[in-house]
Amino acid sequence: MPEEIIDRIYRIPVPLPGNPLKELNAYLIKGGGRNLLIDTGFRQPACREALFAGLRALGLRRGEVEVLLTHLHSDHSGLAPEAARDRTIYISAADRPTLDDLHARQVHWDELEARFQEEGFPRRLMIRLQDANPARSMAPPMGGRYESLQDGRVLEAGGFRLQCLLMPGHTPGQMCFWMEEQGILFSGDHVLFDITPNITVWPQMRDALGTYLDSLRKIGGLPVRLTLPGHRKPGDLHQRVAQLLEHHHRRLDEALSVVKANPGQGAYGIAGRMTWKIRASSWEDFPAAQKWFAVGECMSHLDYLTLRGLVRKTTEGGKAAYYAV
Ligand SMILES: [Zn+2]
Repeated sequence: MPEEIIDRIYRIPVPLPGNPLKELNAYLIKGGGRNLLIDTGFRQPACREALFAGLRALGLRRGEVEVLLTHLHSDHSGLAPEAARDRTIYISAADRPTLDDLHARQVHWDELEARFQEEGFPRRLMIRLQDANPARSMAPPMGGRYESLQDGRVLEAGGFRLQCLLMPGHTPGQMCFWMEEQGILFSGDHVLFDITPNITVWPQMRDALGTYLDSLRKIGGLPVRLTLPGHRKPGDLHQRVAQLLEHHHRRLDEALSVVKANPGQGAYGIAGRMTWKIRASSWEDFPAAQKWFAVGECMSHLDYLTLRGLVRKTTEGGKAAYYAV
């Protein structure tokens, strides 16, 4: 059931069954004329029930809210068209094509799979993931009245002013929403507190990790009093930004030492030699989806090192191989 955060702002917990994230935090800003729903949950029954029961408890039905998405991921966007009906769904211009343009969505997945294959990700696992990956199966259907947001745009609802801040990294168009007067920040998945946001590679971003670290430093400069994240509990933003920066620098060091000790491997082989917080006895025992995330994370770190001249990448015969410089 909804939890009041401050007058006119509520959190609606939406369960994500079987997903390590456990829950999505949808937020509702209740206004006289306009109700803004920030994020929605997967397009899946358990999410649908919780979201719409939450809205009902606040006196709202489908079609009585506008939807504001922090980013394109389907645990945030899956139910957006059902919630908004013929009202507007706002999303950053950079994330929008992957969501509402079927051709762009297909090109996105094709390019991503080509990269994973080049890095040694087994073809048979990739095929298994094509049906099982919630990023695909629980994404919103085509259709919906989307409107693109640019960095700096201000939306008003419930007497509040929300400034849209583009914070690319977790996705190319990840946005945070900043209520300066109240010192409240909706951080989406840019900053999470007891889990580390996944940073992978994107065909549209040459240096996803470098871009993410820049966005972290940027958000860390705001005088935030309360951060409302996309998953789990709030926490101290400035302390968390420092921890996340340190975490990625440690991971960069680790990736570099694995490359030094194992020259000529692709990201799949390198990821298998890094440490992960997953309960599996060996890399071979990792569930396919977890391997996909681990290899993605590893590639973003390898790209960072390559672009800064610390590592050299070759792609002979369509196979990626990394060497320490
Ligand atoms: Zn996400």
